[in-house]
Amino acid sequence: MLTRMQTGLVVDPRYEEHDTGPGHPESPARVRAIRAVLEQYRRPGLVPLEPRPATQEEIALNHAPAHVARVAATAGRPAYAFDADTPTSARSYEIARLAAGGCLVLLDAIMDGAVANGFAFVRPPGHHAEPDRAMGFCLFNNVAIGARYLQRRHGLRRILIVDWDVHHGNGTQDSFYDDPDVLYVSTHQYPFYPGTGAAAEVGGGAAAGRTLNVPFPAGCGDDEYVAAFSRVIVPVAEQFRPEFVIVSAGFDAHRRDPLASMTVTEEGYRAMTRLLRGVAATHAQGRLAAVLEGGYDLRALQASVATVLDELGTAGPGEVASARPRAGVLDATLAAQRPFWDLAG
Ligand SMILES: [Zn+2]
Repeated sequence: MLTRMQTGLVVDPRYEEHDTGPGHPESPARVRAIRAVLEQYRRPGLVPLEPRPATQEEIALNHAPAHVARVAATAGRPAYAFDADTPTSARSYEIARLAAGGCLVLLDAIMDGAVANGFAFVRPPGHHAEPDRAMGFCLFNNVAIGARYLQRRHGLRRILIVDWDVHHGNGTQDSFYDDPDVLYVSTHQYPFYPGTGAAAEVGGGAAAGRTLNVPFPAGCGDDEYVAAFSRVIVPVAEQFRPEFVIVSAGFDAHRRDPLASMTVTEEGYRAMTRLLRGVAATHAQGRLAAVLEGGYDLRALQASVATVLDELGTAGPGEVASARPRAGVLDATLAAQRPFWDLAG
């Protein structure tokens, strides 16, 4: 019998208490759907982890105190909106703290060796939240707070963040743009919301090359994503030698997603997970944490989540079939990154 990895799971009905109002795609139903699929999806080695609220000090590892105060000021207000996409409800501040804290609980469990890897199914999502601004459904940047927490509380230095959500994670990029110790990688539809994420955005100063953007035209799918991972992202990550891998795991590049125009399937997410597990196994003692970002078709979300959990449970990273991407789709990224990394192809 194959050994199954211990995989930590953070999921909680309280994540449904952040109420975005009728018709909003980032709805409580997303967490309900994930809880439903986790009820059916059982494999050995899944370890439920109880989330806790992040403290204001922990949130301030990544955010300006004034921003934390602005979000805190929405507590108890039935409805407020940071922008047209980013509404809050009376419980949103508390649930956003629970989202960030849920990620920290997962990171602690991985660092302590209680689990090998894991997935935090939190909302609100985080990757559009900038240090001083809520936007794009996001209040606090869960992944960015997590990366800072790994550095400050656990003494790690080099952190790899891979953001495969279909949107560019402007907030995460912004947080680490001048930080050579955090490699931020994003694959995303481009041009598209939020408008950032050109291949030429590579990081500033001493951090040049520590931001890696793979902008894709609409209509890309498993072949383009797998090619980006195997030809660019993994080779760069291997040279960076991360001590921990965090995945900003949105599932809105899925072919059934209503917001975007990509064609990724569950098997594409499996391949990406497999390739990142290889990086984590080589450099980071297998330490990998996935954190939910977008994904708005509930059935696609359920199927993708089950597939990634399945892959996280395999004994070791396996092979990935070679991809046949459309011609030229990685050229801009390769040209932008070659000054900083040894890249073939
Ligand atoms: Zn997204």
